[in-house]
This record gives sequence, structure tokens and C-alpha cells, in this order.
Amino acid sequence: MKNNKINILGVHFDAVTTNEATKKTLGFLNDDKKRMIFTANPEIVMEATKNRDFLHIINKGDLTVADGIGVVIGAKIIKHPLPERVAGYDLVQNIFENIKNTNKTAYFFGASPGVAKKAAKKMMSLHKGLKIIGIHDGYFDQEEEKKIRFEINQLKPDLLLIGLGAPRQEKWIFENIEMLDVKVCIGIGGSFDVMSGEVKRAPKIFIKLGLEWFYRLITQPTRFKRMMKLPIFLLEVVKHRKEYI
Ligand code: UDP
Repeated sequence: MKNNKINILGVHFDAVTTNEATKKTLGFLNDDKKRMIFTANPEIVMEATKNRDFLHIINKGDLTVADGIGVVIGAKIIKHPLPERVAGYDLVQNIFENIKNTNKTAYFFGASPGVAKKAAKKMMSLHKGLKIIGIHDGYFDQEEEKKIRFEINQLKPDLLLIGLGAPRQEKWIFENIEMLDVKVCIGIGGSFDVMSGEVKRAPKIFIKLGLEWFYRLITQPTRFKRMMKLPIFLLEVVKHRKEYI
């Protein structure tokens, strides 16, 4: 395993803070190699335990951050703590703040029609000087997908944000990155919905207390079934904790 990686049920997480993840990403953006960044939560880890191909993809990430308090608790249980939760949303906001007023460009790919466009507009007004040079929603067929790749390769954004939901976005990044003229791809789940204002993020106090999942549960009760994966994930970590000592 690479240095500073914490193995949680087979998924290798980078032991980094949000600031360190931001610095790493900025370094990637100034490099010649193509890089994949994954923002993994307990749901993604559970999917990876059931699907070896997906586990392989996740572990090919150049940076995999713990985007869920459950992962941070899991790391504590196995006594290989992670410094903090790194919310994909926060990481992206930090990157925008750092690349605005530089020559770095971004492309938004994902979410329902209109949402990524609204998100781009909001982000460019929040981070004045930010260059979002292309946008496509996340609902497409094979023909359209070819056009999306073609457009990305014409525009050559440094940063490609992909919000197609997990595990689809991670697979898409893995399968497409070599064909794309970009530097960094990040899988960001539902972040475009939040950036656009369609979905509200939890109040700061919930985030600080590690209760953002609870806020999402009460405001989006349809996620209940998905959230049941969190206790299952923790039970799995407890069950396998001896394997990591
Ligand atoms: N999505 C998409 N194409 C699809 C299915 C989903 O672009 O075929 C988008 C969806 O509109 C949403 C995101 O993917 O913006 C998934 O959001 P979710 O909240 O499920 O992701 P999470 O942040 O929980 O990983």
C-alpha cells in the first residue's frame, strides 16, 4: 500500500485534512500526469466490498478522501485514525478559491439538465475570476457521450468535475481519463445540486458535530434505505477490525 494510506475494508484512504487534500490537488493541477480524485463515503466502501472491479478502480485513485463521518469513525475503530472528514464539496470550494484568477479552467459534468449550469453560474459569482469553460448534464446516451468527450478534448479543461453519483462516476472516470485531455478528474456525487442551491447543505453546527448525515436524513427521508448502509458499514468494520492491527 502507498504511504499514508488507511485501509478500511479494503479501500485505501489518504490520511489528509481538507487543506492537505486541497494542496495535493493544486499540485496535481500543475503537473503533467492525469490524476483521479475520489470522495468516498461508507456507501462507496460497502459497494467496493461487494464489487471487486469497483474496489480496483477506487484503489487506483491518486487521492481518495474520507467524505463521510462514518469513514472517520471506522478509522478510529481500527486504530488507524484519519485526521478529519474531507467533504468533496469543501474540497472543491477550496480548489475554486485557489484557481480563480489563474489560467486554470474547469468543466462541470453531471446532475439533472439545468442544474450544472445553475451551479456554474453560482460558483463563478461566488469565486470571481473562476473559469468554468464547459458544462454538460449527467443524462446521456452513447452517442451523446462521444460528443461530451469530444467537447472536453476541444476545451481541454484542467479540472473535470463529475457528478453522476457513485459508483457510476468513478467507473466513468476510470474508463475515460486516458481518452481525455484533462489534468484532474474528481467524482463529486451530488455536489452540483448543492452548488446550484437545489439541495441545501446542513447548517454548520450539524457539520461540526459530524451530524450532516442526520440532517440529510430528516430533510431527504427518501435516502433512508441508503443511509442504513452506515450502521452496516460500522458493524463490518468492527467485525474485521483485528485484520488491520
Ligand atoms: N446523476 C446523473 N446522472 C445519472 C444519475 C445521477 O447526473 O444518470 C446525478 C444526480 O442528478 C445527482 C448526482 O448524480 O446530481 C448523485 O447525487 P447523490 O446525492 O446520489 O450523490 P452522493 O453525493 O450521495 O454520492
